[in-house]
Amino acid sequence: MRVAVVGAGVAGLVLARRLHLAGVDTTVWESSPQPGGQLRTLALWGCPVDVGAEALHLGTPSVARLLDELGLGGRIVHASPGASLLVTRRGLQPLPAGVGPVGPTRIGPVLSSGILSVRGLARAGLEPILARRRVDQDISVGAFIRSRFGDEVADQFVDPLLGNLHSGDIDSLSLRSTARQLVPRARDGRSLLPNPLTRRPHRVAGAQFGSFPCGLEEFIAALVLGLDLRLDSPVLALAPEADGWLVRTRAGVDRVDAVALACPAGVAGALLEPLRAGIGEQLAAGRTADVATVVLAYPKPVGGVLQSHNGLLLHSRSGHLTKAFTNLSRKWPQVGHPDLHLVRASVGRAGHDELARLTDAEVVRQVVAELHELAGLPAGVTDSRVVRWPGAMPQLEVGHGERIGRVRAGLAGLPPVVLVGAPYDGIGVGSTIASAEARAHELNTMDEER
Ligand SMILES: Cc1cc2nc3c(=O)[nH]c(=O)nc-3n(C[C@H](O)[C@H](O)[C@H](O)COP(=O)(O)OP(=O)(O)OC[C@H]3O[C@@H](n4cnc5c(N)ncnc54)[C@H](O)[C@@H]3O)c2cc1C
Repeated sequence: MRVAVVGAGVAGLVLARRLHLAGVDTTVWESSPQPGGQLRTLALWGCPVDVGAEALHLGTPSVARLLDELGLGGRIVHASPGASLLVTRRGLQPLPAGVGPVGPTRIGPVLSSGILSVRGLARAGLEPILARRRVDQDISVGAFIRSRFGDEVADQFVDPLLGNLHSGDIDSLSLRSTARQLVPRARDGRSLLPNPLTRRPHRVAGAQFGSFPCGLEEFIAALVLGLDLRLDSPVLALAPEADGWLVRTRAGVDRVDAVALACPAGVAGALLEPLRAGIGEQLAAGRTADVATVVLAYPKPVGGVLQSHNGLLLHSRSGHLTKAFTNLSRKWPQVGHPDLHLVRASVGRAGHDELARLTDAEVVRQVVAELHELAGLPAGVTDSRVVRWPGAMPQLEVGHGERIGRVRAGLAGLPPVVLVGAPYDGIGVGSTIASAEARAHELNTMDEER
């Protein structure tokens, strides 16, 4: 079997690796000059700075297994321990221990943090009782968390954590597609809080996140080893044949038995629409958010409250352009510089269109002013870099899973073709690896059945 993979992001590379190791003749076509997609490390002021994904979540089994297999376990650099600060009604407060993207997993630290009002606390405490209401259909994460813990938990914790990860609105994002670990408890009417009699290991904030001495580029460099990778080679069109596909690129036409579309949904839709009317429209129906990473270089020392924290998270109603600041020079040992202190700002959310209207210089001015106002950093920077990611964040909104299921069903009858990666199966490197492994298995099975 010969397989064409369209896109050399994490999804395309992991899928290609799996097929290659299984002895399948695989070629990856990538439109840009470098592999990695949304993982990109730039050398800025002599430091390896990740301007796309910043960290791998080491606790995710798919990530841990792959790093082990790639022989990268010994190269991992852990994020320095230290909580992030949250912008709250009581000013900046450390994120309480045990609060994750989908809310609290321990109630004690939330009670003592003072972030919730007395009323909010009383409401959150009802969760074990209200949990008995079962949820069978896909609803928004916001609706689910509000029904369990109340509005304050949703607005103070879930919005700046899960909402920021997805650059979206928690009241639109799908519970099934963005917080699938909660689905069994939602369906069975079980509490999200652990049994108070069960002791759980205490995790140090930061330790679950990892990178490498040269940034995430090292992960991509290990993934591409041995692959037939064609850079600067966008796939322009696909044509089904009796028993396979013709893949058109600028270099000509290649014949393959199967195609894996590991590219953004809009691109997959444009390639498939001429073959199946309506598929392009269905894929385009999923919204995306434009986001940007702004790297700020301050003269040392910077002072301000960030000195002892890894970052600062803002909620969507805060009125700021920035969603989150990462205190790069504190958080990552590989981003140490003798004279400069580096901070990364994340900007852009679905439904907020300011980013597209601002020039890079205006974006820098605004995020520097926001960090000055919020955390007391200097009002000016030595240098900066803006990297824009237009349309990069798929919004996995309520009904996403069903829509993608319909698209996949609509591909029946065509020669073997799979959709793989974040726009279909969930954002984040861990979900993307899992998606690639599942689709590689699907292609191998299709091959065995032929
Ligand atoms: C700013 C930012 C920060 C993030 N932070 C984190 C983080 O800290 N941790 C985390 O786990 N996740 C993070 N994510 C999310 C994570 O990076 C993505 O979910 C994941 O990398 C998506 O991988 P993918 O392979 O599905 O898609 P992509 O990385 O988008 O890859 C798709 C590839 O297809 C290529 N392509 C497009 N059209 C064509 C064509 N016609 N022919 C050939 N190739 C084509 C593109 O150039 C691209 O390389 C972040 C994302 C962004 C944008």
